[in-house]
Amino acid sequence: MNKFTTELLNKLFPNNRNLNDQVVSIDRIYTDSREAVNNGLFVPIVGERFNGHDFILQAVDKGAVAAIWSTEQEVPTELSEQFPLFFVDDTLDGLQQLASAYRDYVDPTVIGVTGSNGKTTTKEIIGSSLAHYFEVSKTEGNLNNLIGMPLSILSMPVNTEVLVLEMGMNSFGEIEHLSEIAKPDLAVITNIGESHIEHLGSREGIAKAKLEIVKGLNENGVLIVDGDEPLLEINNYKQVLSCGFHNGLDYQVTEVFQSEDQTSFKVNNQPLSIPLLGKHQAKNAAYALAISDWLKVDQNKMAASLANLSLPGMRFEQIKTESGALMINDAYNASATSMRASIDVVKKLPYTNKVLVLGDIFELGEFAASEHRKVGEVIDQEIDVVFTIGQDSQYIIEALPKQFTGKSQHFHERDQLIRRIKDYMYEDTVILLKASRGMKFEEIIQKLED
Ligand code: ATP
Ligand code: MG
Repeated sequence: MNKFTTELLNKLFPNNRNLNDQVVSIDRIYTDSREAVNNGLFVPIVGERFNGHDFILQAVDKGAVAAIWSTEQEVPTELSEQFPLFFVDDTLDGLQQLASAYRDYVDPTVIGVTGSNGKTTTKEIIGSSLAHYFEVSKTEGNLNNLIGMPLSILSMPVNTEVLVLEMGMNSFGEIEHLSEIAKPDLAVITNIGESHIEHLGSREGIAKAKLEIVKGLNENGVLIVDGDEPLLEINNYKQVLSCGFHNGLDYQVTEVFQSEDQTSFKVNNQPLSIPLLGKHQAKNAAYALAISDWLKVDQNKMAASLANLSLPGMRFEQIKTESGALMINDAYNASATSMRASIDVVKKLPYTNKVLVLGDIFELGEFAASEHRKVGEVIDQEIDVVFTIGQDSQYIIEALPKQFTGKSQHFHERDQLIRRIKDYMYEDTVILLKASRGMKFEEIIQKLED
């Protein structure tokens, strides 16, 4: 079935050319002119470095059958006058309008997932577990911004019943905007950390920015929050469900045990397990459980779905090296909260020697020193060796307890660090590698694997 027909596009964008006698059907709406498409509607985005309008001829070559077009941009003379264009003031706006209209047209149950940490993981847990019961479509990877989220909406199949969307942000107003486009029926705030504190001023500011998700929430919608976070104690919203470890929450997680390849726990006394490691993952599973409950999925069946989750491209990738050491690649991204969570997981792993290799956490502004110190403060005798590399990560070393003198070191040189790590690559040792994406730890891991 086609996603869009001329009729809907005409209605959305009455200022267009060449359509009176043409029927255009659209299967794919996209922004990358290099992509080969069938029945594609090309949406040229004006970015900082590139202007998508410059690539219209390439897009046509690759299969575009129509395009959105900014009234401020000239149409190249080489473009056939028969080629349908839909004019808008701003093409990003146009993309978002299309997404919003398509969301209403398909009308699935929409689940919006935001929070400082755990958005992608929680989105995957929700999407994969519910896929046993519904036609589910979800954000691919991490496409969570004002371009990516609309594209995620537009890529859902027409028969979608449940749409799970990740919503990310850097500053105030973005989650509100995303929520108004997606109009979620259920909204999850996984936690409040300190990512983007630079732009939002304080943890209170971060909480306020995440809570913007209620702006677009359906009036009968439900807000699901991290019940362990005091900043998310919400009294002024009608339907709130809380998940977490404290007494009295709607979905209380208790008796968490972590083994080498799974975490078992109870939610409101129901025994559960997931093939992911860490207390925080038990809480992320509780969000999925709360949602499945609201969708009236049998909770025993849901327990089986959670136990058998298989998540693509997971963070916290475990790599068994030839030397027998276990390397944990958690270098996809980092905040102080997620770094502490990962260290906590490593502490509980059944290995004799535990090595942490930590890099800088970016985007902390004036909080850089204090947030890195907070990481150092959770490192105790359960960890054997700590290496850091970069600039601000030396504050982690500064905050370590005295017993780490001689068992910790800060590096400026990557090759020196790699040589030191190699000294620890033997049987019964676990090595955690974690830093912000920009630290390019994947290059270190590559060298260690070779
Ligand atoms: P991004 O902002 O990059 O999209 P994200 O919010 O999607 O990040 P994930 O990629 O799912 O987050 O996870 C990032 C890290 O956060 C993981 O390494 C994990 O250790 C940690 N994490 C996951 N869930 C939680 C949670 N509920 N609380 C704290 N930390 C968490
Ligand atoms: Mg993410």
